Amino acid sequence: MNKRIVILGAGESGTGAAYLAKKKNFDVFVSDKGTIKDKYKTFLNENNIAWEEGQHTPELILNASEVIKSPGIPNDAPIIEELKRRKIPVISEIEFAGRYTDAKMICITGSNGKTTTTSLIYHIFKKAGLNVGLAGNIGSSLAKQVADEHHDYYIIELSSFQLDNMYDFHANIAVITNITPDHLDRYDHCMQNYINAKFRITRNQTDNDAFIFWNDDPIIRKELEKHGIKATLYPFSLTHENGVCAYVEDHTLHFTRPIAFNMEEEEVALRGTHNLYNSMAAGISANIAGIKNEKIREALGDFKGVEHRLERVASVGGVEFINDSKATNVNSCWYALQSMKAPTVLILGGTDKGNDYSEIEELVRKKVKGLVFLGVDNAKLHSFFDGKIYNIQDAKSMKEAVDKAYSMAEKGDIVLLSPCCASFDLFKNYEDRGLQFKQCVRAL
Ligand code: ADP
Repeated sequence: MNKRIVILGAGESGTGAAYLAKKKNFDVFVSDKGTIKDKYKTFLNENNIAWEEGQHTPELILNASEVIKSPGIPNDAPIIEELKRRKIPVISEIEFAGRYTDAKMICITGSNGKTTTTSLIYHIFKKAGLNVGLAGNIGSSLAKQVADEHHDYYIIELSSFQLDNMYDFHANIAVITNITPDHLDRYDHCMQNYINAKFRITRNQTDNDAFIFWNDDPIIRKELEKHGIKATLYPFSLTHENGVCAYVEDHTLHFTRPIAFNMEEEEVALRGTHNLYNSMAAGISANIAGIKNEKIREALGDFKGVEHRLERVASVGGVEFINDSKATNVNSCWYALQSMKAPTVLILGGTDKGNDYSEIEELVRKKVKGLVFLGVDNAKLHSFFDGKIYNIQDAKSMKEAVDKAYSMAEKGDIVLLSPCCASFDLFKNYEDRGLQFKQCVRAL
């Protein structure tokens, strides 16, 4: 009998994994406790893949030889606990797909900057004419691409949840952009567990591989020794320290290894210090892959950015509106504020993930002229900011938030949506929040 593969969660990664498993002649079953989107149902039916929704039927799952779990399902979900008790291996879609390709894997993780850095690396590779695929949390699943296409390289965005269930997967180039507290609810509120998940990206790397990381990150530096990393280290930094392979000096980005080259900071397309980090990480990856420095410079210079990340929306009555809806934690809002060059009205709020607003207090005092709290429950924001900023208003919808922010701003000011919080109290997700922001701005 064929080995039985059960896939839990029928989103992009789950249906892709099911498709690849079917193509490899496994006995495949997909189970989703929620409702499966119509487009995925059609896809499963078209490919003769058995599925269920609204439940996890134990008899159809516990007979699996191996289970592929969607990153959205926590490891302490009852069905996962039961699988663990029965010693049935539970892996992620990336782990599964990685078995069926010999492409070079360039993998990016971190608390912030994953999507931007991943997209930037993909843009450079593509522009250099390489046969490259983009996967992970972005676009089409790795499994689906491995099943249908052939690529020489994959640029893969990895969340800590994907990494949790990766064991034999091997990244030829691994990047950690930074590590700050996030998703701790999924890690027993233990920061070390979350850090360990991130460092799993270096697992199975050999001395032929590369590990790129932000050298100024106190957590990464402290942890570096602990994880038995065999790959060649490529640290990058804002300053010219010993051993770094990219840094900024005299408004110029310097890359030192493997091939040395420079680029004017002015020429880098993405604005803000955090994007210099992302650009350095991307430039190093391309440099290691042997892409010519003219191509790297050109691509870092014409990258258009990613939607909902410090995205310029419009200028209305001389007020500039910026959509940073993807800033779902305090750290990313810190970087957004840091890159603001004019007095700013900040819209923030939503579902709080245990935020500590003292991290942004100094920047808020320095750069923010007004705050709009956009959330069902703004009590925590009020208790922190009341008395510190003169002009604070509440909003219960995006339209109200945009109207109020616009009325607080004057010509030459900026209105920035950088919420520090998840969006689920008022919106479907951060994309929905960002799209509503853009619509309301355009309707002003
Ligand atoms: P991720 O995929 O890790 O969530 P994104 O690239 O989508 O990262 O960016 C998420 C948020 O973090 C955005 O608000 C963005 O402006 C900010 N950001 C991007 N890169 C960095 C970085 N290197 N450090 C801190 N914040 C960043």
